[in-house]
Amino acid sequence: MLFRSVLDHGDVVPTDEVDRRVAELFLFDFEQSGIHLPTSDRRRFVELSERILELGSGFMQGCHRPIYVKRSSLPEQLRDVFSDNGDGVMVTGLFADHPSDLVREAAYRIYLHPDESQTRLLESLLEARSELARLTGFPTFASRSLRGTMAETPERAVEFLESLSDSVREKASSELRLLEDVKRRNLETGSTEIRPWDTTFYGGIARHEMCSVSGTELAPYFSLGVCIEGLSDLFADLFGIRLREVADVAPGEVWCDDVRKLDVLEEDGAEGELGTIYCDLFERPGKPRHDCHFTVRGGRQLADGSYQHPVVVLMLNLPRPRGPIPSLLSLGAVENLFHEFGHAMHSMLGRTRYQHVTGTRCPTDFAEVPSVLMEYFASDPRVLSRFARHWQTSEPVPRDDLDRLLASRRSFAVSDIQQQVFYSLVDQAYHGHYPAGGARTTQGVADDLQRRHHCLEPVPGTAWQLRFGHFVGYAARYYSYLMSRAVAARLWHQCFREDPFSRAAGERYRSSMLIHGGQVAPGQLVKSTLGEQPTTKMLVQAILDDIEDTSC
Ligand SMILES: [Zn+2]
Repeated sequence: MLFRSVLDHGDVVPTDEVDRRVAELFLFDFEQSGIHLPTSDRRRFVELSERILELGSGFMQGCHRPIYVKRSSLPEQLRDVFSDNGDGVMVTGLFADHPSDLVREAAYRIYLHPDESQTRLLESLLEARSELARLTGFPTFASRSLRGTMAETPERAVEFLESLSDSVREKASSELRLLEDVKRRNLETGSTEIRPWDTTFYGGIARHEMCSVSGTELAPYFSLGVCIEGLSDLFADLFGIRLREVADVAPGEVWCDDVRKLDVLEEDGAEGELGTIYCDLFERPGKPRHDCHFTVRGGRQLADGSYQHPVVVLMLNLPRPRGPIPSLLSLGAVENLFHEFGHAMHSMLGRTRYQHVTGTRCPTDFAEVPSVLMEYFASDPRVLSRFARHWQTSEPVPRDDLDRLLASRRSFAVSDIQQQVFYSLVDQAYHGHYPAGGARTTQGVADDLQRRHHCLEPVPGTAWQLRFGHFVGYAARYYSYLMSRAVAARLWHQCFREDPFSRAAGERYRSSMLIHGGQVAPGQLVKSTLGEQPTTKMLVQAILDDIEDTSC
C-alpha cells in the first residue's frame, strides 16, 4: 500500500512530526476499519458494524422504556403515586427526588428490574464488538477503542481507575456516614442505612441544610446577556480575545431565529478574526436535550499561507426569555454554558496545519480538558461576582449567598467520583476480555465490581446496567471524563487558582496546549504545559489535591 510505504520509508517531499502523526492517525482509522483485510473479512466487518449499530440503538431505546405493573401488585399507599395506565401503573423513572423512602425504593426496584431482552441486546452488542476487534487485529474492543488516547491502553486506564478507587474509598465512606446522619434526623420510620435510592434525596437535604439558598434563587443575577459578557471579559483577560455579536446574518444562514452568531476577535487586531461560533442556546420542542459543541468547518493552514477560520455550533437548553424577562441561568446552567464555551475556545484558538486534527478533534480522554477547566472558572466566586448583576436593578450578586451556594454544590463530590470510577470499571470490563470464560454474566461482572469499588452494595433483583446508555456511545471510553478532569484540575491549581485572570497563565495554556488541537499527542501536550507526564500517580494525585482543596 502506497500510504503504508510512505509512512515506513518516508515521503518524496520533506515531512515533519505533525505530518507523520496525522498520516498515522489516518492509517490507523483505515486499518481499524479493516482496509488491509481479505475480502471475506471485510464483508464480515461491514456485517458486524451494521449489527453493532442496530443492537446499540435497540439497547438505547430500552434504556428509557417505562415499566408497567398491575396496580393490585403494589402496596396500598403506592397505588396512586405512579402514572395511571388502565388497571395498571406506569413507572417512568427512578423518582430519585421523591420525599417518600418507600416510593423511591419501589421505583428503583421496579424500574431497574432485570429485563431479558435488554440483557440479550447488551450481551450481543459486547460479543459483536469483541469479534469486530479481533477481526481487525486487537485482543479486545477496549484496546481498539483506546489506541492513540491519553491512557494509551486499557491496562493503564484500569490502573488509573483502580488507584483512584483505593484513594477515595475512605472519604466516600465518610460522606456516606454524613448522609446516614441526615437520614436519621429526617427519619419517619425504618432503617438509617443509606441505600442506592437514598443518595440523591438525602444529598439534596444535606445541601439545603448547608445552604438555604437554592440553585435558582440567584438566577436573576445570571441573565444570559451578562454571562456572555462575563465570558468575553474573561477571555479578554486570559487570551486577549473578544466575542462580538454579528447583527446581520444572511438569509438561510441560520436554522432558527434563536441562533446568535458570534465572531471571535483578537483584541489587538494583529490577526483580526479567529473564527465564528453559532449559538443555539434556548430550549424548544423537538430540540435534542443534551448540550453539545460541534464543528461545521475546522481550522487549517491554506496553501496561500492564510488560515481557514474555524466555524462551530454550541447547542444548549437554557430557559427561553419570557416577555421582558431575559433567560435567567441557575449556577448549574452557568457551568454548562462555560463548559461548552471551553470546547468552543479549543476550536477557536487551535491553529493546526490540518483539518483532521482541528481543535477538539483529539482523543476523547483529552477532549474534555478545556471544557472541564472552564467549570473551575464557573465555580469560582471571584470570576462569577465580577460579572453577575441583577437583570432589573443591576445590583451585584450577594457574595455571601454565592459563596455558600458554591460550597454546597461541591459537597458529596467524592461519592460522585466513586460512582464514576465504578461505571468506568464496568465499561472497561465489558469491553475487555468479557465474555472470555463464558461463565460470567454482565450482571455478575457488575455486582463483583460494585462490591470491590463502591460503598453501597448491589441490590439483588435489580440491573442498573440495562439502563446505562453510555455503554453504546462511549464504548470503553467512559473513563474519559475522569481522566480529563484530572488534567483540568492540575491545570487549574497550577496555572489559574491563584489568579483566574492571569494573562501569563492564559497565554501559556493557549500556546502550549490549545493551539495544537489534536496534532500533538496528548501526553506530550500535558508534559509541555504542566512539566510532567500524565502518569497514573500524577493523575490520581491531581484529583486528590482538588478534593482536599474544595472540602476545606
Ligand atoms: Zn464536554
